[in-house]
Amino acid sequence: MSFESLGLRAELLSGIDAQGYTTPTPIQTQAIPVILEGCDLLAGAQTGTGKTAAFALPIVQRLSEKIPSEKRRRPRALVLAPTRELAAQVSEQMQFYGRRLSLRSTMIYGGVNIQAQIERLHRGIDIVVATPGRLLDHAERKTINLSRIEVLVLDEADRMLDLGFIDDILKVAEYLPQDRQSLLFSATYSQSIKDLADELLHRPRRIEVARRNIAADAVTQAIYPVERGRKREMLSHLIRKGDWNQVLVFARTRYGADKLTDQLLFDGIKAAAIHSNKSQSIRTRTLAEFKRGELRVLVATDVAARGLDIERLPHVVNYDLPQVPEDYVHRIGRTGRAGEDGVALSLLSPEEQPLLHAIEKLLKYAIPRRTIAEFPQIAVRRGVKAKTRKASDARSRSKERAAKPAQTKARSVKPPAAAASTKSGSLRSKKTVEERPAQKLGRRGQRSKR
Ligand code: AMP
Repeated sequence: MSFESLGLRAELLSGIDAQGYTTPTPIQTQAIPVILEGCDLLAGAQTGTGKTAAFALPIVQRLSEKIPSEKRRRPRALVLAPTRELAAQVSEQMQFYGRRLSLRSTMIYGGVNIQAQIERLHRGIDIVVATPGRLLDHAERKTINLSRIEVLVLDEADRMLDLGFIDDILKVAEYLPQDRQSLLFSATYSQSIKDLADELLHRPRRIEVARRNIAADAVTQAIYPVERGRKREMLSHLIRKGDWNQVLVFARTRYGADKLTDQLLFDGIKAAAIHSNKSQSIRTRTLAEFKRGELRVLVATDVAARGLDIERLPHVVNYDLPQVPEDYVHRIGRTGRAGEDGVALSLLSPEEQPLLHAIEKLLKYAIPRRTIAEFPQIAVRRGVKAKTRKASDARSRSKERAAKPAQTKARSVKPPAAAASTKSGSLRSKKTVEERPAQKLGRRGQRSKR
C-alpha cells in the first residue's frame, strides 16, 4: 500500500515525502479513506502508531476542498487532546500539512494567558487543536465560534476520561453543529469509551490496530527489586554502568520528580524534570534539550509524558511503578519506537509489590526480575506482606534468582484493550442518558442545552 493509493492530494504527498515517510502505517491505511469519505470513526490506536497523520492528512484535505472566502474564518476542524504536549504535537502536524493548502491552524491550551489566543482566533482560523478545559473557557466567553465545525477529533479519548475531562468534552459538544464528522481515537476500549462514542459518534466505522512497536518484541523489560531508600543510588548506578545517554525516568509525583532530578544532578548526571507545575515554555525547552541529547535524563510524571514522542528513545525507567496498570504499557511504549529495540526497567520497592502484581495481571505474564550484586534483593521479600505474596510470585522469584543478571528479552506487551478500564469510571452521560432517554438526540447524539 502506498500513500498515493489513499487518494491524497499532491501537496500532501509532497509533505509526506518531506517528513520522510515512505509507507503508510496500518492506522493510516485504514483510517485515511474512511475519513476522506466523511464517515465517523472509532479507532483503537495509540501514540506511536502514526495516528496523528492518519487524521491530520484527510482532515486537511477535506477542509481544503472548500475554503470560505471570508477573511476571518471560523474554525471548521476541532481536535481535543488530553495534554498540552500532545496538543502541541498534533498542532505541529496540522500546521505542517495545512500550510501547504493555505489552511490556518492554532493551538489552545490552559496555563497561559488567554488574550493571545483570543487575538489569534479573532484573526481567523481553520483548525483548532485544544485541551478541553481551556477550549470550553473560550466557548463560554464566546471568544470562539464553534458553529462551523465540520470535523471533531477526540484524540487519546481514554486519557481525557482518566484526567476527568468528560464534563468539559460533553459541554464542548453542545456548542458543535449536529451535522459534523466525529472521530474518536483511544488506546483502550472500556465501557466509558463506548458510552462516549454512543453519545458523540454516529454509526462509526471501527478500526483497531496493534501497537506498532511494542507488539514486535521491541522492548526488553526487567524488574529490579530494591529498597525504597536506595532507588536513586541504583538509578545512578544503572545509568553510569550502562553508559546510558538518553533515559526517560517516570516518577509518581511532581515533588518526587523534582527531588530525583536534584539528586541526579548532585550525582553529576545531567537531568531535568517535566511536569505540570513547570511553565509551558520550560517544558518545551526541556523536551527540546532532551531530544537534542543535551540532557542525559528526563524525569517525568505520567501526565506530562503523555504524548511525548521522542524518536528512538533507548531507555525508560519506572522509578516509581504507576498506580494504574495501563500506564505501565503507555510508559514503556516510549521506548522501542520506530522499529528500534528499547529497554524498560522498573525499580521495585517492597511496598510496590501489589502494583506490580496488577501490571502482570494486565500483561498476562511475569516480567523478569534482575538483581545487581551491590543491591541485595532481600529487602523486597522482607517488606512484602504474606497475603500479597502469591505463590506464583514466589515461584517466579526463585526461578529468577537462578537466572543470569544480564537482561533477557521479555515477551512483547500486548495492547491492553481487553483488560483496560478508565479510572474515571462510568461517564456522567451514562447516568444522564439513563435518566433522560428522551434527551439523547438522534443523529450525533446531541443533547439539548441545559
Ligand atoms: P503518532 O502515533 O502520530 O504519535 O506517530 C508516531 C511517530 O511515527 C511520529 O514520530 C511520526 O512522525 C511517525 N510516523 C507517522 N507516520 C509514519 C509513517 N507512515 N512512516 C514512518 N513514520 C511515521
